[in-house]
Amino acid sequence: DPQLNSNYTFDNYIEGDCNRLARSAGYAVAAKPGGTSFNPLMIYGGVGLGKTHLAQAIGNEIKRNMPDKLVIYVSCEKFCQQFVDSLKNNTINDFVNFYQAMDVIIMDDVHNFAGKEKTQDIFFHIFNHLHQSGKQVILSSDKPPKDLAGLEERLLSRFKWGLSADLQIPDLETRIAILRKKMYADGIELPAEVVEYVAHNIDNNVRELEGAMVSLLAQSTLNKKDIDLALAKQMLKNFIKNTSKEISMEYIQKLVCEYFEVPVDMVKSQTRKREIVQARQISMYLSKSHTKSSLKTIGAFFGGRDHSTVIYACQTVEDLIDTDKKFKGYVYDIQKKLKMS
Ligand code: ADP
Ligand code: MG
Repeated sequence: DPQLNSNYTFDNYIEGDCNRLARSAGYAVAAKPGGTSFNPLMIYGGVGLGKTHLAQAIGNEIKRNMPDKLVIYVSCEKFCQQFVDSLKNNTINDFVNFYQAMDVIIMDDVHNFAGKEKTQDIFFHIFNHLHQSGKQVILSSDKPPKDLAGLEERLLSRFKWGLSADLQIPDLETRIAILRKKMYADGIELPAEVVEYVAHNIDNNVRELEGAMVSLLAQSTLNKKDIDLALAKQMLKNFIKNTSKEISMEYIQKLVCEYFEVPVDMVKSQTRKREIVQARQISMYLSKSHTKSSLKTIGAFFGGRDHSTVIYACQTVEDLIDTDKKFKGYVYDIQKKLKMS
């Protein structure tokens, strides 16, 4: 299963108060996929708190115990992309059959379904098929089902059927344990005061915590230098400063098109189809507010249009944000994704 990453196991998933319920529910599901009341199992929590790790660990554990089980791990984003491709290539039946044949489906980051009504419909049917046949569904999301915006009610109600378990920011002790595990895995030991300093100062997510440790370990190996507290402090300062990178129009175009499930190249075309026009106008609006590009450059980028077209697009989007709540939600959703990049 190329989709499963064998580096993510229960073994290297440190347990703490922050993840106890989710971890043990995951373990129960892995022992008896489809055979517990945790179906679906929904793991939710903020960025970098271990959703993907835990979801993958469940898949790996199932394959370890029951190699014959068909387990698929797929990010919601990839699923959406596959769906769009299958529409284009007329292979929608193959697409649906593939997923319906699975014993376990693990879908990561289902909040990315927001606004994608067609893909949600397809997933709704796949979900029902699997659930009715006693197959296991595992989901992850950045919010609990009740707070997921832009998802259809009938899908959300399914998501609430089983168990929703959250991941929280690990407490200091757990953060230290995670750092130690990482150190031992790399075969390097840093002074305890350095480990504690890192754990104390990076307290928002595990990915950053690990990132800091990785750069300390790399320094130590590459430069054959011992990392003392003074050096760690200096390096950590650089790590945290982490200036935000610039957003490109290409990236905006990609995000918007993925969001609305329209082919990326279409926004640059001459088509006046409503959904394409909407994607194009939002792309222009976001390019104006999030890049330093001039109106002229933006117009040229989106299919050789002139600056008045961009002004008109921005005006239209602003008007719609004021008058259409659903539309406003879409734009805010996309903006949020932009800012996470
Ligand atoms: P998310 O999917 O929620 O954004 P990830 O699963 O990608 O987060 O986790 C980010 C990083 O932190 C990964 O490298 C993961 O292995 C690590 N990690 C998260 N939680 C734990 C944990 N409890 N024990 C060990 N490593 C963890
Ligand atoms: Mg993830």
